[in-house]
Amino acid sequence: MHEIALTNISYAYSQQAVLEDINFTAAAGEFVCLLGPSGCGKSTLLRLLAGLAAPSSGTITLDGKPISGPGLDRGVVFQDYSLFPWMTAGQNVVLALEQAFPDRPKAKLRETAQSYLEMVGLNGVFHKLPGALSGGMRQRAAIARAFAINSPVLLMDEPFGALDAITRARLQDLLLQLWQQNAAERKTVFFVTHDVEEAILLASRVVVMGLNPGSVRGIFPVDIPRPRQRQSLYSDSSFLTLRDRLIAELHADVLDELDEGRTIRTAGEGI
Ligand code: ADP
Ligand code: MG
Repeated sequence: MHEIALTNISYAYSQQAVLEDINFTAAAGEFVCLLGPSGCGKSTLLRLLAGLAAPSSGTITLDGKPISGPGLDRGVVFQDYSLFPWMTAGQNVVLALEQAFPDRPKAKLRETAQSYLEMVGLNGVFHKLPGALSGGMRQRAAIARAFAINSPVLLMDEPFGALDAITRARLQDLLLQLWQQNAAERKTVFFVTHDVEEAILLASRVVVMGLNPGSVRGIFPVDIPRPRQRQSLYSDSSFLTLRDRLIAELHADVLDELDEGRTIRTAGEGI
């Protein structure tokens, strides 16, 4: 549970502007979804929040202190954030737990790792190497690892994108449950998705990003009471209105590109 403030953030990969003048503050305990077409810099922004890269200009602070590198206060699940291939799924989770809780007995940590693996639907994989698991199972193990260390900040980059619909729904519910269970210690979450409905189901606010260079196009509060029921969302008029609004905003970005005669790098993708 930390406030995260991004002030005038810009980022360039070898002279190429990727993010420009991003200003946004996530209140402590807020669930923020970042939504935008492929290539608008969502993953880059998450890497900056994780401390894996530094902005070209501007500052990112966590409760007022600048982020200067990765830390155990931020759990991360990246699209390509794979497990160590030479360690079993269980050992991967235990390793993170040892770093987060160095004083706890190892047997206890193994138990915790096992219970988080089971929570994401991975039974019987503790002793399996990542190479023996499907991509979706590896992703779930990475999610178990991020949940297990119970960090006050959670940074997730399309974590459920590669999963089947049922597993995805189950993990969305689990994530919301973990986020909601203790209001006083509610995690501050940045969750990247290009699924509009997923964003509305999860978020307190949706930040819509646009392309060329990556920027904030709009910030949309989601005023749907919690707990949100997937089944009844579709008959909720505020859900439908916001969904249309977000889709229009995403398409407007692509249409702007057409108007300006630029090449669309992302046609069809990401929306
Ligand atoms: P998103 O996650 O929204 O799809 P990314 O943050 O991955 O967007 O990428 C934003 C832009 O930065 C893209 O134009 C991409 O080509 C560029 N980019 C990403 N990673 C690198 C890199 N390592 N080197 C150079 N350019 C990169
Ligand atoms: Mg990405």
